[in-house]
Amino acid sequence: MFFNKDKTSIEYSLTKSNRKTMSIIIENSGEVRVLAPKRLTNKSIHAFVMEKESWIREKQEVVHQNRRVKPRIGQGTELEILGEKYEVVFREVTLKKDEKIVLADRYLVYSYKPESKMHIAAVFENELKQLVTTIIEERIRFYSQVMGVYPKKVSVKDQKKRWGTCTSKGHVLFNWRLIFAPKSILDYVIIHELAHLKHMNHSADFWNLVSHFDQDYKLKREWLKQNGGFIDWSFEASDIF
Ligand SMILES: [Zn+2]
Repeated sequence: MFFNKDKTSIEYSLTKSNRKTMSIIIENSGEVRVLAPKRLTNKSIHAFVMEKESWIREKQEVVHQNRRVKPRIGQGTELEILGEKYEVVFREVTLKKDEKIVLADRYLVYSYKPESKMHIAAVFENELKQLVTTIIEERIRFYSQVMGVYPKKVSVKDQKKRWGTCTSKGHVLFNWRLIFAPKSILDYVIIHELAHLKHMNHSADFWNLVSHFDQDYKLKREWLKQNGGFIDWSFEASDIF
C-alpha cells in the first residue's frame, strides 16, 4: 500500500501485522517502510508518520549521501577493490583463455577479447568473482584455524540480498560484491558466517564469539548498513564504455 497524498507528504509502504508497536524503516534505497499493528487505522498511522517527517527526511538524506553509485567501467575508471583504489586498464587479447583481471600496483588490468559489450561486461563481472573467491578462500583458511571451525563447503554466489549465509549443513556462502568493501568488512562477514557453524542463531553466545575475533564488529555492521548499497550491483553492456 502506498500513500502520497500531496507533494509535501512522505511516500511509504505500509505492512500491518500482529505486532504491538509502530516501526519506520528507511531502506538503503531511501524507501520508507512502515510496520504497524493491525488495530491502528490508516489515518492514525499516517498522522504518526507525518509527525516523524523531519526525522525521516534526515535519515533519507544520510542514505542518499552514502550511496555509492555503480561506476561505468572504461579505460581509466577508478574502482575501489577491498578498500584500495585502482585505475582500470583495458587490454585487448585475441584468445578467450587470456581473458582475466590482474591487480598490479595501482592498476586493475582487465584483459578481454573484444567480442561485444555484453561479453566484456559478463567476463568483467565473472573475473571479479574469481578474484574475490580466491581471496575469500584464503581468508577462510586463516580464520578456520584461528576459530577452530571448518566449513564443509565455501561458495561465492550471486545472492543480491545478503552478504553471507551459513547453512545447517555447514556450507558457507558469500556475496561476490564484498570485493567492493574494505578488507576489514570482508573479514567481519567471514567471521560472522564461521561463527554460525557454532551457533546457528544470533544469540548472545553467537555475538560473544564474533566479538572475540572482531572487537569492532558493531562498527562493521553499521558500515554495511550505511554503505552497503553495492549489495546487488551487476555489470551489463551499458556499464562498459
Ligand atoms: Zn548471521
